[in-house]
Amino acid sequence: MLNTVDMFRAALRINVFAVLLSILLLIGALYIYSGNSHSFRWIFQQDNFPMTHVSTTSCEVQEYVNNCGNWSIGEFRMKVGLKYAQPSTQKGRTDVNSVTNWNAPLVWEGTFDPVVIDAIYKPMNPRVAVVVFAVGKYTRFLKGFLQSAEKHFLVDFRVTYYVFTDNEQDVPKVELGSARNISVVPVPSAQHWQEVVLGRMEWATKAIDNQIRSKADYLFMMDIDSVFHNRFGAESLSRLSAVLHRGYYKDSHRDKFPYERRPQSKAYIPAGEGDYYYTAAVWGGYLEDMYRLVKHCYIQAQEDSKIRIQAVWQEESHLNKYLLYNKPAKVLSPEYLWSDYDPVPADIKVVRVSQLIKNYKEVRPNAGNR
Ligand code: UDP
Repeated sequence: MLNTVDMFRAALRINVFAVLLSILLLIGALYIYSGNSHSFRWIFQQDNFPMTHVSTTSCEVQEYVNNCGNWSIGEFRMKVGLKYAQPSTQKGRTDVNSVTNWNAPLVWEGTFDPVVIDAIYKPMNPRVAVVVFAVGKYTRFLKGFLQSAEKHFLVDFRVTYYVFTDNEQDVPKVELGSARNISVVPVPSAQHWQEVVLGRMEWATKAIDNQIRSKADYLFMMDIDSVFHNRFGAESLSRLSAVLHRGYYKDSHRDKFPYERRPQSKAYIPAGEGDYYYTAAVWGGYLEDMYRLVKHCYIQAQEDSKIRIQAVWQEESHLNKYLLYNKPAKVLSPEYLWSDYDPVPADIKVVRVSQLIKNYKEVRPNAGNR
């Protein structure tokens, strides 16, 4: 016969067992859940997809999952049966270098297959913000820029052009593709052209904080006085992509690059240092990386102005300093920004964007010689 103490002990044993079982079940459930989230993370990281998305459990992730249709998550990024030329380990561009010494791609025509690139990026459906300034007489360049971008810039991707202007009524009505928009951001007129060129960093920093951050995954900063001529596609996307300046990409010794050479300036780069000289007329990357960089240029320029110094090529000098010590994830060839001033050499197989010839004295407020 069980006495009361034995019955109490048996009950206690059953309770302890039930508690242990519940804990085990809970740990199991947590493990399965974390395994699933991990598979989302894997998908996005594979394509350098913005980390902002990685931490998202919202409809962005759901949207991607839906877009996958019947693909197996974590197994196939691209559609089965897609036709494209076989890649070779032996053949490719030999007239130019297509990799940097930090092992980042250096993107030229012939180093990527647009079919493959689009098949990787399009299902992710990223949102791309393009920040352009058209202050004063520069509004005249908007139509050509926007119309040509609609033909060549990330076609079939979600794009919003943020047009910063002091003259809203001069922003032309341009026919836009689906999921593409123009958002006008008013800014004051400028007395000096340098105010606009450097002011872009401050305005862009504030606009990202106030309106762009929740609406974009990638951000490009571009000069408005340019026209797209050929594909500027998802091969340009990365954490941070910078374009080689057409004037210094070939034979220039690093000491000849027009870096800021005065040690007093925050943009100072000493002789004997430097990789490439990048243009500030086209650059892009993940929203948060671009935010850090744009804000950095803004703050460094402010520091300079406290001691009454302006970097020799304004924000371009600060950009070059930053990119020397924070290497870009992709370097884009000068195909991504050529100029109508210069003949096109043999190694530039495709001009994707070209800067227009302009009468500096006529378009710039208070223009002197640069
Ligand atoms: N910009 C502007 N208004 C100005 C000066 C410059 O809107 O009065 C903007 C415009 O987007 C332009 C960019 O700043 O493309 C860079 O200026 P600019 O083209 O004059 O510089 P460059 O590349 O010719 O040295």
